[in-house]
This record gives sequence, structure tokens and C-alpha cells, in this order.
Amino acid sequence: TLVKRKDGSYSIQICVEAKLPEQQNTARVIGVDLGRTDIAHTSEGDNWNGQQLSKIRDRYSKLRAVLQQKASKGTRSSRRRCRELLQRLSGKERRFQSRQRCVAKTWVNHRISKAIVSRAKATNSAIALEDLTGIRERVNQQPRSKTERRRANSWAFYQLRQFLEYKARVAGVSLILVPPAYTSQTCHRCLHIHPDPEQSYRSGKQFKCGHCGWEGDADLNGANVIALLGAAVNQPGGPGLFCSAERNKLRATESPHSFA
Ligand SMILES: [Zn+2]
Repeated sequence: TLVKRKDGSYSIQICVEAKLPEQQNTARVIGVDLGRTDIAHTSEGDNWNGQQLSKIRDRYSKLRAVLQQKASKGTRSSRRRCRELLQRLSGKERRFQSRQRCVAKTWVNHRISKAIVSRAKATNSAIALEDLTGIRERVNQQPRSKTERRRANSWAFYQLRQFLEYKARVAGVSLILVPPAYTSQTCHRCLHIHPDPEQSYRSGKQFKCGHCGWEGDADLNGANVIALLGAAVNQPGGPGLFCSAERNKLRATESPHSFA
């Protein structure tokens, strides 16, 4: 479809039909925690945060500096072209500026989802995410924390999930959705939750288990809990989360999770 935009520019939308590869069958699971303090954090310790976005912003400001120089020197036609480009970059049109932000976020989402799916493919792992179906309604009816509202309403966060889903499907990587309850509060090492429901072992970016003493990045902990749940869901009749004998068996088969 050829689409003419209001500003006179055109875009082409191309629809491609492809046969999907068969989803791989594997016991390895990479858990991915999305949109809490980091944009994404995996159970393997990879994480992406707002720094990537700042890098793009830096790149734009460098580009602006180069254009400014060229707009004052250069030949007549190149000066004019640079001025035009600068005008677009300068953010005089607010619409353009916000579009620029969207483009940057979309680019980052492509990068993140691609990296996660390639890693899963290379290590023959499935990807586990929290099942957030209906979270928007739940969260908005009963507003909780700022983080939860952002996770429910942010288009960028939603887009990242979409990208992960379709890239996984195309790559033949299976995607497992796990129930999101308590994923951020449970210790991935000993599976304990703070006995007082008013309190949590998680405090911002830090997680400190009061039971086994594990201490570390809260998103890394969350991603590992998601991976554990994913592994449990992935193998019906397989290792239960609370059976230590099965856990040992898993450990022996070099599971990606860190049961220390
Ligand atoms: Zn613990």
C-alpha cells in the first residue's frame, strides 16, 4: 500500500507472507523482565536501559552540529539543503520532534528484541515473558505504582512485546507467557516472598532476600523468576518449582537458571 502523509511525503507498506519455522522444543528458558526500572532485563544478565535512547539523542545533536557547519559553508545548494534538514531537526515542528522520539524508541525496541531472540535461537532456548493480558484494565481501575501504570499504558513497552513475539515466531523460538503475580517480589533463589504482605524484598533497583540472603539487581531477580515459571510451564509434568530432587536434576542438565 502506498500511503500519502499529510505533509506530502509517502510511505510504502509491504505485507510479506512467510512460512513459519517449527517452534523448537527445549527445556532451556530465558526469562525477560520488561519495563520496570530497565527497558528489558534477561535472566542471563543482559539489560537495556534508557542509555540507548540517550545515545540516539546524542547522535542527533552531533548531526545537528555537522549540518550547522555545512549550512554556513558549502555550496549554495548544499547550504539550502542543510538549512532545510536543520529546520526539521530543530524541533520547530513539535510533531516532528515527537515523531523523532518515537522513531528512536522503535529503533531501540527493534535492537533489543532482535538481540534477545538471536540469543535464544543461538542457545536453543525458549523465551518467557509475563502474561500481561488485561493488565491495562486491571491497573487503570485500581491505580498502583507509577511503574505498573507505565507498563500498562506505554506504547513503547507494548511495541517491544509485539516485536519480541513476532521475531520469536519468525525465528522458531517458542514464547511462553507466565502469570505475572509476585514475579518481582519472589526470590529466584529460594522462592520466598516477604512474609509481611505490606513489605517486599525489592526496593527500587535492589533486591535483598531476607530468607536466603541473595542480594542483587531487582530486574535480574524478576527475569530469573520469570525463567523459572517459564520452565515449569514449558514442561507439563516436568520439574515442579518446589521439588528439590527435580531441581538437582535440572542443575545437572545445565539449566540456564542460577539455582545456587
Ligand atoms: Zn532467597
